[in-house]
Amino acid sequence: MFEFKFTEEQNMLREMVRDFTNNEIKPIASKIDENEKIPAELIKKIGELGLMGVSFPEEYGGGGFGETGYCIVQEEIARGCMSTATMNGAHQSIGSNVIYLGGTEEQKQKYLVPLASGEKIGAFCLTEAQAGSDSFHLKTRAELDGDEWVLNGEKLWITNGSIADIVSVFARTSKGISAFIVETNTPGFTAGPPEKKMGIKGSTTNPISFDNVRIPKENLIGTDGRGFLLAMKTLDAGRLGLGAACLGAAKELLELSTVYAKQRKQFDTAISNFQAVQFMLAEMAMMIY
Ligand SMILES: Cc1cc2nc3c(=O)[nH]c(=O)nc-3n(C[C@H](O)[C@H](O)[C@H](O)COP(=O)(O)OP(=O)(O)OC[C@H]3O[C@@H](n4cnc5c(N)ncnc54)[C@H](O)[C@@H]3O)c2cc1C
Repeated sequence: MFEFKFTEEQNMLREMVRDFTNNEIKPIASKIDENEKIPAELIKKIGELGLMGVSFPEEYGGGGFGETGYCIVQEEIARGCMSTATMNGAHQSIGSNVIYLGGTEEQKQKYLVPLASGEKIGAFCLTEAQAGSDSFHLKTRAELDGDEWVLNGEKLWITNGSIADIVSVFARTSKGISAFIVETNTPGFTAGPPEKKMGIKGSTTNPISFDNVRIPKENLIGTDGRGFLLAMKTLDAGRLGLGAACLGAAKELLELSTVYAKQRKQFDTAISNFQAVQFMLAEMAMMIY
């Protein structure tokens, strides 16, 4: 029978991330939101703790915790700061994961290893202005010219767009949609100004343009023309982590609401003594747990 219990290692991972979040992320979460920026030192610390590659096997510099471990990390980080969880999610579960799921051994050694350690930051470039839910109709093109692919097009809403070192890009070739690894210091790669968002403001979301970006032929991920399947497979992992992060944030909100309801007094008593307030807290707890 499948055991729905966390292992001792998973519980230790959760405790470690919870402590880190309480000590290093929560105290600066408001600043991250106000400044619309996650400090580079914080990203460095998250990488050093092994949280930016926790899902990947140890042979690629990861933590070997798989998707469950990744969800634990995202849940705990999001208790302190949803922007930081979003940065880590786009980096790990989609940006880097394309290389893990579809890359060759050489690509994994060259690109996944520095991504998993947090030495490099990753991003995932699929969405375009006219290709959101309907991402199959993307227009960015990749043409083979000798030993190089030449990429041209515009991407939109790319998390980590302006802070990434390595991005996974989906573009149309003569065979269909294909996936590519692009180093962001390649001439012709430009990240535009961050979107002004209503929330998760510390997580940068940028337009990206590819203007004759030349990358080595060997930076094609998987089979030419089979990239869309890889994108969909990758997004499955992305959705898992997003759900876990929302759960973490919701748990934190319930805790904050409960503490406030016990502290706040009206009509000479804590508002937690009013049944209408108890109903709201109980409903939140039911939905979360
Ligand atoms: C904060 C943020 C970060 C993002 N980060 C990234 C990233 O890192 N990389 C990346 O590639 N993209 C990223 N995106 C883009 C994201 O993946 C798209 O927003 C998403 O695919 C939806 O596309 P859209 O916004 O164009 O909405 P649309 O596709 O225009 O959809 C509009 C509405 O119509 C509904 N709808 C669409 N089609 C159907 C249908 N067939 N049936 C029923 N309802 C439908 C949708 O649910 C939605 O409510 C990000 C977006 C945001 C907001």
